Amino acid sequence: MDCPACQSRSLSPAKVTSGLPGFACNRCGGSLIELLAYRMWAEQQPASQTPRAEMSAAPPDTTKALVCPKCSKLMAKYRIDAQGENHIDLCGNCGRFWLDGGEWGLLESLNLQTGMTAIFNAPWQASIRKGDAQHLVEARFQQELGAEAYQQARVFRDWLNKQPDKQRLLDYLARDD
Ligand SMILES: [Zn+2]
Ligand SMILES: [Zn+2]
Repeated sequence: MDCPACQSRSLSPAKVTSGLPGFACNRCGGSLIELLAYRMWAEQQPASQTPRAEMSAAPPDTTKALVCPKCSKLMAKYRIDAQGENHIDLCGNCGRFWLDGGEWGLLESLNLQTGMTAIFNAPWQASIRKGDAQHLVEARFQQELGAEAYQQARVFRDWLNKQPDKQRLLDYLARDD
């Protein structure tokens, strides 16, 4: 397969990270990942507790439209977050996405490496267009928790925020028994 970003003929099988197979370009550092393989990998990862690591600089992003190296259809661009200009390119035809070199590291620094599919959702993209960071955080929780649990938690959180003993209530909720 040819690299969609730099057109070299060097796309070859490589692990994106431990347990996640893909195809990598050893010239530009980009990688092609199957959405299905990514979902299976993401489901097996423990819930991430790590705070966001700071990225020194955003990696360069390909701005031109990419052609899927697998099926030759045009890929769609999804902006990763409201702060940066990086995009993930997704082929809606064969379910593969392209990360430019360094974008996996960017996703990790945003703590999005296991919640990446949320980026492809309409609420996420709408929030970015509106530049509404708070709304984006909400959209992400909604995606991760599912609509029903999110709604329940939200009602409870609003109530909790009005309680004078909020911290004691949180301590109580964190108890195992
Ligand atoms: Zn390349
Ligand atoms: Zn494709």
